[in-house]
Amino acid sequence: MKNALDLNFEELKSYISSVGEKPFRTGQIFRALHKGLDFAEMTDISKGLRDKLASDFIAQGVKIIKSLKSADGTEKFLFSLSDGNVIEGVLMKYKYGYTLCVSTQVGCRMNCAFCASGLYGLVRNLTCGEILGEIVAANRYLGGDLADKRKVINIVLMGSGEPLDNYDETLKFLQLVSSAEGINISQRNISLSTCGLVPKMYELSDSGVSVNLTVSLHSPFDEERKRIMPVANRYKISEILDACAYYFEKTGRRYIFEYVLIRGENDTERHAEELIRLLKGRPCHVNLIRLNEVKERSLKCGTEKDAYRFMGVLTSGGLSATVRRKMGEDIEGACGQLRQRYIEDNNGKK
Ligand code: SAH
Repeated sequence: MKNALDLNFEELKSYISSVGEKPFRTGQIFRALHKGLDFAEMTDISKGLRDKLASDFIAQGVKIIKSLKSADGTEKFLFSLSDGNVIEGVLMKYKYGYTLCVSTQVGCRMNCAFCASGLYGLVRNLTCGEILGEIVAANRYLGGDLADKRKVINIVLMGSGEPLDNYDETLKFLQLVSSAEGINISQRNISLSTCGLVPKMYELSDSGVSVNLTVSLHSPFDEERKRIMPVANRYKISEILDACAYYFEKTGRRYIFEYVLIRGENDTERHAEELIRLLKGRPCHVNLIRLNEVKERSLKCGTEKDAYRFMGVLTSGGLSATVRRKMGEDIEGACGQLRQRYIEDNNGKK
């Protein structure tokens, strides 16, 4: 059965008119869905319409089935989907409100060497309504409502999956979540992270949405990047940089490079110098991330001091760079780790 959250306002409106209801019902139902209500809870519409909706759609296909709270306040959610698959999301509390990190796929095809999400490959794409459902469920869980009463105010597409490998649904999701009738999160408060699928980066630049673009770089050398990220066999770093420049030209938005520091692999002086050579003068920022070690992967994390030394080289070389605060380590905070554990605990059932 289809998820009602997959419908945009126009699609819901045509459904409403196809079942002979008045157009003003559309806004009521759209808002109720984006608040996280089930049809049975929509008491301001007739029982007949509620039953009709429930026979055609699932209202809330995404449910929080487990939540783990870290000592640092980070909270990790395991969400169930209506077909029994599970995905995860991470909630981070900052001074100004909550940021939710959401998944865009069940599993991932990219198989980066440091990441738990790709361990089982891609199971399936999420629909736009399922990506939105993660936010709707978390927002309701936190006691939030729509628009200025929302609790989740920032979104990062950095959970499991590659958003640009699920381009159409991701794009529709971005439109849904920033729609004025719903939660209405401004696109400037949304960050999309990609491993660098170049053609899709161009499509995104031309799509009319204007989110913060984040690119997982992880090495300034193509040959070494291939060892960490198989996708580097498809696209060169120079092509990624050109696509970033195009994104900036179209949106005026500075872009961010994510760089997971892996001990001995990509964290030497040589790497820092090459990063400076590549990125100096570009409207970008480098976000250094200390590796969250994943049991199934053999890569190691360096010390905090190593990370700050690396950052120091970059900033002295004229780049804007910061080390991301490590969060949620005690709750399997890195991409795909919690789902991975859940799958193991459930005898390999995905
Ligand atoms: N596919 C997209 C989005 C998901 S991964 C992308 O590649 O950008 C997003 C980020 O999660 C990666 O850039 C990396 O910074 C981070 N990440 C994944 N596994 C990690 C780990 N084990 N330790 C630290 N960061 C990790």
